[in-house]
Amino acid sequence: MRNYTKQYINGEWIDSASGENIEVINPATEEVMGTIAKGNKADVDKAVQAAENVYVQFRNSSIEERRNLLDKIVTEYENRKEDLVAAIRDELGAPTKVAENVHYQMGLDHFVAARDALDTFEFEERRGNNLVVKEAIGVAGLITPWNFPTNQTSLKLAAAFAAGSTVVLKPSEETPFAAIILAEIFDKVGVPKGVFNLVNGDGSGVGNPLSEHPSVRMMSFTGSGPTGAKIMEKAAKDFKKVSLELGGKSPYIILDDVNIQEAARAAVMKVVNNTGQVCTAGTRTLVPESIKADFLTAVKEEMANIKVGDPTDSETQVGPIISKKQFDQVQSYIDKGIEEGAELLYGGPGKPEGLDKGYFARPTIFNNVDNQMTIAQEEIFGPVMSVITYNDLDEAIAIANDTKYGLAGYVYGENLDNLRKVARSVEAGTIEINEAGRKPDLPFGGYKQSGIGREWGDFGIEEFLEVKSIAGYYQEG
Ligand code: NAD
Repeated sequence: MRNYTKQYINGEWIDSASGENIEVINPATEEVMGTIAKGNKADVDKAVQAAENVYVQFRNSSIEERRNLLDKIVTEYENRKEDLVAAIRDELGAPTKVAENVHYQMGLDHFVAARDALDTFEFEERRGNNLVVKEAIGVAGLITPWNFPTNQTSLKLAAAFAAGSTVVLKPSEETPFAAIILAEIFDKVGVPKGVFNLVNGDGSGVGNPLSEHPSVRMMSFTGSGPTGAKIMEKAAKDFKKVSLELGGKSPYIILDDVNIQEAARAAVMKVVNNTGQVCTAGTRTLVPESIKADFLTAVKEEMANIKVGDPTDSETQVGPIISKKQFDQVQSYIDKGIEEGAELLYGGPGKPEGLDKGYFARPTIFNNVDNQMTIAQEEIFGPVMSVITYNDLDEAIAIANDTKYGLAGYVYGENLDNLRKVARSVEAGTIEINEAGRKPDLPFGGYKQSGIGREWGDFGIEEFLEVKSIAGYYQEG
């Protein structure tokens, strides 16, 4: 049992003002795996005050000091690898290999990318006799979801520290333990008192007061659209800057010149990775009518090879859904797909055989999906693929863009002109050609209802900066 019922405020672990706790469930066993504090407004006020007290000092720290700090964090993060992997496995249900190769690694990559970005980042630029200065925005509120416990926290924290911004972090109450380890890492390497503050709790108890606190200059949020809208509404009262990374319903466009088996394998992985609980999941699989029959055979075969089960088993590729609530949501979308007339090609409602305990869902493929169906328009956040066919490239692009979202897009094929045409035409913030992979030094964020702003690397640092112009900074002799 993990019992961490204190908050990390002003460089110390202190009792939560509420005296109340939240139980955290291991989704693979449905058992309580630990408790955290259920923070409240008084905790938030204390944490914001601590961050407010030192924001000018931290803003004025040298780039070298912040680079050294990030470098020490990288080393200590690596030292805590085993603990981070175990926490993510148990709180999220991520198979050990996924916890290590994806979650642990992405968190590390962000601290490295932000550290390295400082080598070339221009905080000041002379224009004639004038100066343009970029300086840290001040106190930032960070709110993160459960689906990537180290990635989403680390990318915001790395950028804020690189920029010189002080922060109050509220991680998801469903996956809080990786963030607690991050707090221990920062404490160990000597992040200055007040620069980093952690307040655990839920959305209404902690997220709300943080979003409306007058001393918070910026809210950086990742999670669902409805919560993003609430945060933006609160932030609008005193014109806080907001950075939002919300949902997606990303197209995976397969061209007609592919090796079908390889394309099917890649498309399946984009759906089942992290049990489909990925904002960039490529769940609308767009396939040319001309190769549809062969693709369906291949994709069924590839999906059948996916091993769902106990996250502690080294053979497991896909773990449980995070919670009963999310499991029920996935089930209701599967029911909706059947109801609206999509053909259930593989999987379906219920749990995989032999996995009665734990929130395990069946990897599922729908065929003959119309892009207007609910399962093609809404984010399912589970391992559910919708196969949609197209006749020519322009039609594929039109279908890809016929969505309220614009977070990611994927294209897989041989002809480079076609690959590039699709990549340039899909309205989304991140495009991957032929599984090129995501790069921590490239910008990440969404068009349309997928969000506002860009994160990762130097673009992430920009989010935590204000721009000041000083006319006449340089005087003629
Ligand atoms: P959520 O938006 O409810 O929660 C995300 C974070 O916001 C959590 O830390 C939560 O405590 C906090 N929060 C909740 N209400 C708040 C409020 N009123 N003010 C401030 N903070 C608040 O998301 P969730 O419950 O974790 O997941 C629900 C859905 O969100 C999922 O089904 C999925 O579709 C989507 N989601 C998207 C992403 C993404 O990366 N785009 C990540 C996770 C979830």
